[in-house]
Amino acid sequence: GKVTFTIIKPGAVERNLTGPILAKMNEAGFVIKALKYTKLKKEQACEFYQEHEGKPFYDYLTDFMSRGPIVVVILEKENAVADFRKLIGSTDPAEAEEGTIRKLYAQDKRENAVHGSDSDASAIRESDFFFSRVERF
Ligand code: ATP
Repeated sequence: GKVTFTIIKPGAVERNLTGPILAKMNEAGFVIKALKYTKLKKEQACEFYQEHEGKPFYDYLTDFMSRGPIVVVILEKENAVADFRKLIGSTDPAEAEEGTIRKLYAQDKRENAVHGSDSDASAIRESDFFFSRVERF
C-alpha cells in the first residue's frame, strides 16, 4: 500500500521532538498527507489499542498514550507500512538499529517515541480513527 499511519507519542511531544521526528520521516521519503496535534482520553486510548487488551502492559500503555498531547500523521510512500516500520526500528530501543527513530528518540520499550501501523488494514483503521474524510482529502 501507499500509506501508513503514525503517532508521535506523548513522551516525544513533551520533549520537543516533533520537529526532528517529522524531519526524519521526510528525509526517508515519506510525504505528509494529513497531520494534527491532539490528545486522547484514557477511554479513547483503550479503544485505539483494544487488540492489546488483557496484555500485562495494556494499562501502562493506555495511561501513557493519554498522558499528554500527541501528533497523528498519515504518510505516503511506496511500500509505506514495511518501510516505515524499518525506519522506526524495534519496539525496544535497546534492540533497534542505529539511525532508526526509536534508537535516536525512544526512552524505553514502553515510551518508545512513535507508533507505526503494522499492516495496510491497520493503517486504514487507525487513520479513520483520527481523521475525518475532509481532513484526509
Ligand atoms: P506500535 O504498535 O506502537 O508501532 P510495536 O508494533 O512495535 O509498536 P506492539 O507490540 O504493537 O509494538 O505494542 C504496542 C506498544 O505497546 C509498543 O509500542 C509499546 O509502547 C508498548 N509495549 C509493547 N510491548 C511492551 C512490553 N513488553 N512492555 C511494555 N510496553 C510494551
